[in-house]
Amino acid sequence: MTTLRFLNGTKTIGGNIVEFVKGDSRVIMDFGMVAEMGTKTVTQAMADHTLPHLPDLLLPDRPARYQHQAIFISHLHLDHMGALRYLKNQQIPIYLSPDALKLYQILIAQGVEPAVANLHGLPLGRPLTVGELKVTGFLSDHDTIGAMALLVEAGAHRFVHSGDVRLSGRHPERVAAWSDQVKNSLDVYLSEATTYSFVTDQPQMVQNGHHEHAFTEGQLPAALIEKAQETTGLLVLNPYPRNVERLIDLDQAARQAQRPILWEPEYAQIIHAFAPAAPLAVISAEPSPFANATNYSWATVEKLLHADPQRFILHNTWTQLDRLTAFSGGTYLHSNGEPLGDYDPRFAQLQAFLAKQHYQLVPFGASGHARREDLLALAEKINARRTVPWHSFKPELFAELLYRTKSEPWLPETDIYYDFPD
Ligand SMILES: [Zn+2]
Ligand SMILES: [Zn+2]
Repeated sequence: MTTLRFLNGTKTIGGNIVEFVKGDSRVIMDFGMVAEMGTKTVTQAMADHTLPHLPDLLLPDRPARYQHQAIFISHLHLDHMGALRYLKNQQIPIYLSPDALKLYQILIAQGVEPAVANLHGLPLGRPLTVGELKVTGFLSDHDTIGAMALLVEAGAHRFVHSGDVRLSGRHPERVAAWSDQVKNSLDVYLSEATTYSFVTDQPQMVQNGHHEHAFTEGQLPAALIEKAQETTGLLVLNPYPRNVERLIDLDQAARQAQRPILWEPEYAQIIHAFAPAAPLAVISAEPSPFANATNYSWATVEKLLHADPQRFILHNTWTQLDRLTAFSGGTYLHSNGEPLGDYDPRFAQLQAFLAKQHYQLVPFGASGHARREDLLALAEKINARRTVPWHSFKPELFAELLYRTKSEPWLPETDIYYDFPD
């Protein structure tokens, strides 16, 4: 017997967590938060489903309930891994793709993420055995580095967790490859359904960092070159650090436009880790630890940009917003950096600040999520016996369309045990 339990995320964007149990073995897919903890205790947060109801992992000194168990993280967005910091069980191994692990370790070293014990890289495309269960990770396409789709095999039963996915990113071939591998073979396909959350096709800023844009990922470098060439005043860029490939691409595009990006040092460190050959320009008073990088103190940056605002593109994060008061306005490219959107109260503060300081706020992001028709085509191709739409505020919108396919839609409830007999 294999038992499936959806711990969260059946009707929300984010916090998607599912548990597979067979005998003395358990695997858990993703470990994100549905919302902020606020002042809640862990017990209260489990009760109201801010955290998954997993007292054996989240409360101290609980005996292990399974002989073999592991957590798998599809990607490094907070709605998929933000609850890891509340783990009290330090024995349970946590698997991520090698690139996601590498970025996670940098974020921990930078103090952006709290340290978490027992992190491991999951070799891609090969099954990892966890007692009676087997899990295979496949590289996929989303707006964070090393995003995976995950296959769970339990005896003769097969399940796939799509993770967050898009077909309009830099790696559509990865999605084609993993869906080829699993098509026509699954009991259940768990499909993210973010874009089915809204009434309009072009939803704007929404909760948990998911929003839609006019650009696709691949269009952004050329769009930046155009902005770099046409903007005579100061040009400011605010991207999201976990989308490492975008940082690398935009850095390269800016240099091609002969207007290099002046990076804050934490972002420069991330780019350097994944693209060691990139000749970076960095805002730092320290000498550069990287041979091919040039460091500029903030005083020098101010002087250079006052003399010639077209010399660089200025990277600016929320924490360094005050730096923009040194100039008399400009163009601010908001490229999925924090604060991401309306749901975050800091976004209104950002808008007010930029307006007051004469900066024009220009949306310059791309979505990490597949369009509705792409999600449907993917589910149709995979053709599982049942398809679960989740990671959505309105999973029933996707379910209605699935009724026209050969795959039966399934809208499970949170915290119910669903049995799959051997
Ligand atoms: Zn997500
Ligand atoms: Zn995501």
